[in-house]
Amino acid sequence: MVTTNAELWERYKELVPGLHSNLMGMSYAFDKPLFINKGKGAHVWDVEGRDYLDFVMGLGPGILGHGNEEYIEALKEQIDKLYLGASGTFAIPLELEWAEKFTSLIPCAEKVRICLSGTEAVQFAIRIARAYTKRRYFIRFQGHYHGWMDNILGGVTAENASGMPFALEQLGDFLGTEGRDPEAFQQSFMLPWNDIEVLERVLEKYGEQVALIITEVFNCNGGCCLPRPGYLERMRELCDKYGIVLYFDEVITGFRVGIHGAQGEVGITPDLATFGKAMAAALPMSAVAGKRQLMDLVAENKVTAAGTFNGYPLGVAASLATIRILEKDNGAIYRHIDRIQKRLMDGFREIGKRRGIPLLVQGPRGAFQIAFTDAEVAYTFAELFASDILKLFRIREMLAEEGVLTMRGTRWYMCGSLTDADVDRTLETFDRVMAKL
Ligand code: PMP
Repeated sequence: MVTTNAELWERYKELVPGLHSNLMGMSYAFDKPLFINKGKGAHVWDVEGRDYLDFVMGLGPGILGHGNEEYIEALKEQIDKLYLGASGTFAIPLELEWAEKFTSLIPCAEKVRICLSGTEAVQFAIRIARAYTKRRYFIRFQGHYHGWMDNILGGVTAENASGMPFALEQLGDFLGTEGRDPEAFQQSFMLPWNDIEVLERVLEKYGEQVALIITEVFNCNGGCCLPRPGYLERMRELCDKYGIVLYFDEVITGFRVGIHGAQGEVGITPDLATFGKAMAAALPMSAVAGKRQLMDLVAENKVTAAGTFNGYPLGVAASLATIRILEKDNGAIYRHIDRIQKRLMDGFREIGKRRGIPLLVQGPRGAFQIAFTDAEVAYTFAELFASDILKLFRIREMLAEEGVLTMRGTRWYMCGSLTDADVDRTLETFDRVMAKL
């Protein structure tokens, strides 16, 4: 019987090209994928029986950790009576209950529609904003990620663009792809994030042609960078001034950074927002939510969205269960994550200091990033990745070899089931690895 990662990989790669996501690389190193077949709490086990601490958390959904019993019970209840939703033909009472709960929690959500993936929800939101404004272009930011469709995947900002600042394709961009529609990048301007002057300048010239601005609130994909004080507030004002739809992509932050989303944390309400990942913890479900006047375009059949599996009962049950667990004891999970995350972040900083290795540790609740730099804070992807990037790649591999799995980058996702013993083990491992760097 085949039981090693290496043997399974030999068979697997003959049949499955590029794993599930080309963007995340293999489990930790390109030549050493892990085959994981069990998870519990913050731990996963590979087919060789090795125990890993998991800070990947399924690329973000795992806010509850693996195998949360209350969550599994809710799913079992639904599986016992497994029936099919019928997207558009009939509704299910569970979806109504879910929508009432969701709209009561998320500030911008006067109405909400369910989809399956973050990628899909983003394209739906773009369509709504274009229909509402009757404009074509959208603005996106370097270092942000919004799914893998042609019009939004990768590219770099055109420095000193004299005309419209469309993104450029760059050889070696790890978010690049062949096979893209050659005109896809002509739909959007790509700007550096956290730079209000650039945004003001571009809007002065093109503001009346811009349908929407899409932004992460905390730029988790670009190094867990936080917005500069006042940046998002000014973005909100500019959107109002030019009649642009402000759209927060909360696919990572929704229900991870807090029960009211990142918009609740920063106190700025966008016109539209998308959710996914942690919203349903371990099953695919995403959502587009927003102001009534935008969402009503969908009700009026002016904007079309469809999908055979949108609103499937098991996913809705999963999301309801997740939100119920997150809300318990007035958000006890978030308080737990705060404490655990602080232990980790402070611990890493202390190790860096003690070993004389400059280390930046930053992020909102639920996710953080490390980088090898003297800087105390990085406000953009570019700033952060001006650090010693090779060292960053190396430490990720070394950590994985020592049984601690992190996201490419190196990003750490928190979950509610991390224990103090898990933190102790992580800090010990981190210290050992830093000594060998
Ligand atoms: N938006 C953001 C902010 C994301 O981080 C992601 C996924 N990492 C997506 C959209 C796309 O979601 P999905 O992978 O579910 O298609």
